[in-house]
Amino acid sequence: MIFKTDLNYRKQSLLKLLNAVQEQEVEIIQALYDDFKKPAFEAVVTETSYVVAELKHTIKNINKWAKPKWVLPSFLNFPSTDYLYKEPYGKVLIIAPWNYPYQLALAPLIAAVAAGNQVIVKPSELTPNTSKIIAKIISETFDKNHVECIEGGTEVAQELLAQRWDYIFFTGSVAVGKIIAKAAAEHLTPVTLELGGKNPCIIEQSAHLRLTAKRIVWGKFLNAGQTCIAPDYLLVHHSIKPKLIDFLKEEIITAYGENPEKSPDFPRIINKKNWKRQVSFLENQTVLLGGKTTAEDFYIAPTLLDNPNLESLVMQEEIFGPILPILSYETEADLEAIIMQYEKPLSLYVFTENKAFAQKIMANYSFGGGCINDTVIHFANKRLPFGGVGHSGIGAYHGKLSFDLFSHQKAVVKKGNWLDIPSRYAPYKGKLKTMKKLLNWFS
Ligand code: NAD
Repeated sequence: MIFKTDLNYRKQSLLKLLNAVQEQEVEIIQALYDDFKKPAFEAVVTETSYVVAELKHTIKNINKWAKPKWVLPSFLNFPSTDYLYKEPYGKVLIIAPWNYPYQLALAPLIAAVAAGNQVIVKPSELTPNTSKIIAKIISETFDKNHVECIEGGTEVAQELLAQRWDYIFFTGSVAVGKIIAKAAAEHLTPVTLELGGKNPCIIEQSAHLRLTAKRIVWGKFLNAGQTCIAPDYLLVHHSIKPKLIDFLKEEIITAYGENPEKSPDFPRIINKKNWKRQVSFLENQTVLLGGKTTAEDFYIAPTLLDNPNLESLVMQEEIFGPILPILSYETEADLEAIIMQYEKPLSLYVFTENKAFAQKIMANYSFGGGCINDTVIHFANKRLPFGGVGHSGIGAYHGKLSFDLFSHQKAVVKKGNWLDIPSRYAPYKGKLKTMKKLLNWFS
């Protein structure tokens, strides 16, 4: 298996992939539009350019990342030199979702290939056009024994899961994440689970409200709210709630016009099932803006809901659509009472000019990643790990972290033969006192 041992082969494969994705960018953007009217701007910013950047960064650094890394040896082993060897796991399965169907299939693939693995990718069946172009690019770029794309839905995924893998990388829902974890446990296969959750967005009274509204509207309604790290619900200090609502309404109209259904910048819900789920969230709620739904093309308007009951459906499930509930709080205890009733989220956002408040929120709550005074953008820094905690996921990736994730790190001590201190060998009689001293000095 040349890809396992030959770093240059891996690099050439990635260069071929870079060439293919750059040549076919127009077709990829078209496929994303055909699947759910993803605007070209969003397709470039959140999918194609991201993949190209990840490829370039990986190709540039692969030699450095793959090299055995020298680490400071332990004096107890003197004389020795110690290394971490990066070893490919072997056979890797990548299962991708539909919401960023291109990027979330390709980004882990790039890292798995760079690390020297054999890879099977299963894209989402809900974005058939994107799935098709991914399959085409992969078959044109890679040897079939190296990387293969297998298209299909749940049944295909289950058939793949029934096989034995050396690593499984899954992005999708919490419910399916549990199925993946169970299947992986059968062979003690390590997994990364990139899942979702209900992401809180706190707006404290000192926040710059106009900018806050603009950044929330962008992060929430990007991809029509079908973003795992989109703010799920707002927690606004009661004293500024009316003002923030006015700004949110204005920013939605600025971004998508009086009739967002006509906006070229607003995608559709992925399918009927998810559209119906969104529609059910609107039942018996106070709609502050939006609320329009159109069954023919699975449209849901960018919608603001006022103070939904915590028992209502919209506050029970991950929304994953363009509906934004606005709740208010008075004290930090109110915040805690709401946030802590959910599982640990993938993201948390806080808008405030009060540094101490921001630090307290960062320290008090557990979440995958997040921002102070913005939404979603932590995704863009390849030096920051991207992943969840608790129910929002296991493991994290991006940049070098992705390469490390798909590599087993072998610990190797190369012992020198020119000196052999006898104190560790049996018979132990009379050696314990010296050994205790040594352990004490060098611990
Ligand atoms: P999903 O879990 O329904 O599907 C994801 C993948 O799993 C698809 O390829 C699908 O074919 C496969 N699958 C479905 N049922 C399966 C089963 N029973 N056994 C094996 N495989 C199965 O998720 P989705 O609807 O595609 O994506 C939406 C979810 O993904 C949201 O919850 C969102 O938060 C999450 N998400 C997370 C991230 C992240 O990076 N953490 C990114 C995007 C989406």
